[in-house]
Amino acid sequence: MATDRLMVPGILTDEQIQQVETAGYNVEAVSDLSQVAVERAQEISRVNRFAEARGLSAFEERAVMGYMTAEEIESALINLQILHPDLVTLIELPNHTWENRISHAVRVRAGENENRIGVLFTGSMHAREWGGSDICMSFLVNFINAYRANKGVTFGGKSFTAAQICTILENIDLFVFPDVNPDGKNYSQTNDPISNEQGFWWRKNRNPNTSVDPSNPGVDLNRNFDFLWDSGIGTSSAPSSPIYKGVSPFSEPETRNVRHLFDTYQNIGYFVDIHSYSELILYSWGDDENQTTDPEQNFMNSVYDGKRGTLDDTLYKEFISPQDQDKLVSLANSMNESLATVRGNHYKVQQAVGLYPTSATSDDYAFSRHIVNNLNNKVYGYTIEFGNMFVQSFSEMRNIIKDVCAAMGELCWAISNDVEMQKKTVEKGAMIGAR
Ligand SMILES: [Zn+2]
Repeated sequence: MATDRLMVPGILTDEQIQQVETAGYNVEAVSDLSQVAVERAQEISRVNRFAEARGLSAFEERAVMGYMTAEEIESALINLQILHPDLVTLIELPNHTWENRISHAVRVRAGENENRIGVLFTGSMHAREWGGSDICMSFLVNFINAYRANKGVTFGGKSFTAAQICTILENIDLFVFPDVNPDGKNYSQTNDPISNEQGFWWRKNRNPNTSVDPSNPGVDLNRNFDFLWDSGIGTSSAPSSPIYKGVSPFSEPETRNVRHLFDTYQNIGYFVDIHSYSELILYSWGDDENQTTDPEQNFMNSVYDGKRGTLDDTLYKEFISPQDQDKLVSLANSMNESLATVRGNHYKVQQAVGLYPTSATSDDYAFSRHIVNNLNNKVYGYTIEFGNMFVQSFSEMRNIIKDVCAAMGELCWAISNDVEMQKKTVEKGAMIGAR
């Protein structure tokens, strides 16, 4: 008898493992998370290494000492702008988090070109996926320092020349929002891994859910974007769920901050949301399998409500133009080749629907914007799932930072080196400037 095999990663207590096994599923324990949590807790920075601007000049030496905290990331972004005011624009995001944190993104732009395409990277949307922020910060500092020194940058076996760095920073707008969910990161990093292991492995934000269920705080930010939010595909309406989607699309300040970047900087044309884990580069769509032949079968068509989100059926598949699919796959393959050059590690490029369908995620929201409203620029969206566990040992994280930075650099290079890649579907800036 042929059996379909689905693998679903999860974090389970001993009791939950028993329940799942009793229900007839196989459980393969990858690691004893209690022990992992205790070890990882030792690898969080204890002091703010970047409280002063000069700390950034020694970024590499300081960064090797452990995972960055939410406070450090904020300091580093602010100081990056102080050190490089001609290159870095500090963007204060309008929505304070539930714990009243102020978040920042940066835009990096060299040279005089005013009409350029934007590339946005976001990190650590999920609380326990700490390393996304460290990747983003390392990428920023390495590329800015290299540009400043007119030098290349090397990640293991992968190098970008000084000329390539120049081309990148002088032809694109580089947007980086390294820590989308600082409340969550802080909660995860400050919980005792023994007495509150569930807190240590926190995924969601820290919405107190006062009106719906105060005993179960938190919304899954990557289920809170406005893409098929109502569909319930791969989401939950129960606040106790790790994939709780919130009370409405964009109910959360953190997701509104991401939307703010797309709304305010209409030149953004490429987007990568950095998560862990699984060693994947995912492209749209995530709600159902792609098809390239029937434009009527699309997420906006209510005729198909209730038919989406099931794999291996003929009821529905999500439309994507062959050109867009080819472009998404081709860029993902380029990123993957570059990543593999660092130390021979290959990720898998696949459609986001992967093993299970999802909705209300950041990458699909990004790519859906131009379809919902043709005044929005088209944004090609990706999710990178780095590593083999939510929080790697920091020594392995240092290798992963190189892997993923090589992929990010390659995406920027591919775009900045090709005028076709720099074309926008709307020219909002030009429209405003023209009569
Ligand atoms: Zn994630």
